[in-house]
Formats: sequence, C-alpha cells, structure tokens
Amino acid sequence: MGRVFLIILVFILLTMLSQIGGLVYLLAICIPVKRISQFFIFLVLYAITSYGIVPMIARETGRVQVRSTFISTILNRNYVRPDLKAVIVDMENVNCLDANFPFINGFPLFPHLSHNDGYKLDIAFRYIDKRTNKETDQIPSWNGYGIYEEPLPHEVNMPAECERKGRWQYSLLHYITPQSSRENYKLDLAGTKALILKLVANPSVKKIFLEPHLKSRMAIESDKIRYQGCKAVRHDDHIHVEIQ
Ligand SMILES: [Zn+2]
Repeated sequence: MGRVFLIILVFILLTMLSQIGGLVYLLAICIPVKRISQFFIFLVLYAITSYGIVPMIARETGRVQVRSTFISTILNRNYVRPDLKAVIVDMENVNCLDANFPFINGFPLFPHLSHNDGYKLDIAFRYIDKRTNKETDQIPSWNGYGIYEEPLPHEVNMPAECERKGRWQYSLLHYITPQSSRENYKLDLAGTKALILKLVANPSVKKIFLEPHLKSRMAIESDKIRYQGCKAVRHDDHIHVEIQ
C-alpha cells in the first residue's frame, strides 16, 4: 500500500513539474530491474522523450519551443504557439522564462494559473550588473522568478494588500528562490521599459501583466498592461505576455 501511494505521489509530482515526466516514470518502473537501474532508465527515457520525441509531436499539434532558462527547458515548460514565438523571435533583449507545456489545452503549468494554452509567455526584466555597471543578459534568479522589485513607500503596494487578504501564494516564489545573487544586479528600469513598450506596440500582444507600482514607476500608459489580481503570483519579478 505504501509503495502504491509513493508511486502515485511521484507520478503526480513529475506530471505537475514537466507534464510527461509522470508517464515516463510509470514506464521506467514497469521494467523488471533493480530500483537504482529503474532510476537511470527513467533519466535516459526522459531525456530521449524530451529532446527527441516531444518537440516533434508538439510541432505537429501546434506548439513550438522558445529558448528559455535551463530549468524551464528541461521541464518542457518552454512551448508556445508559433504566433507567440513570432512576437519575440526578432526582438533583442528577450530572456524567456516559463511558457506552456507542449500538449493539451487547459493543462495547468503550476504555479502559473493561465499558462495552459500556448498563448502565454513570461519574460525576464532587464538588469544592470553592479560589478561592471553595464547592461547584462544575465538574470539574478536561477529559475527566473522570486527576486522582487518591491514597492517604494510612496507607491501602490499590492503585495501588502494581497497578504492582508490572506493570499499566501502571492509571494510564494520568494521562498524557493535564494536571494543572495540579487546583490550583484539592479533592475534596468529604462531597458525593461523599452522592452515592455516594444511588446505593447506589437498588435499581436493583447495583454501584459505587471505589478501596478512598476507600471507607474515606468510611467507606461497602455490598456494592454493589466493587474492580474491577488489570486495569481506577483509580477514585480517578470513580465507576463499573452497574445489571445
Ligand atoms: Zn505568466
């Protein structure tokens, strides 16, 4: 009973993380060899499936890969509709983060509520490396999230408001992201604003989520830039883009 429970737990976890990981795990544990061998078989099968088979089938069924962070890529979280890839493909200064899984409309990409149809993509802010005082393509967070540009005392503070409403998940990514590397980087406000303005100017882009204090700090006027509400996660660590 304990083993079955564990198998179900691992299956759910791997499916939530990578969509296909759970199925590959079930396949690996069906092979009658020792557990340790099954583990290595899982790794090999997962790599073959993720890099060889999934991109091919996804392309046929309408989603393609964007160049993203290492963690998003190995977990198959870097798939979008070709129309969305077309928005960013010629843009400079775009560091993609989580996008969508390769298959099935409506399949959620935890912890992002809406990344379930190929039409959503997260993009990193731009940063200045404090050590060189120059713009950089590096980002301070290993997973691309959780390093927040906090509201200043005079700015609107939705994170505090959401916490007051008991929305525990709003700042969740802060707790799983080491904060130490932020010391070397500061937000490139002008560079990030320029990036957002390019996205706003693209007719395909329908909606952008950004925390209200950053929208006013950057002085951007656009109906496309919305507030996502307290039920999601906060958006003062990345830009969320939708084309539908
Ligand atoms: Zn998003």
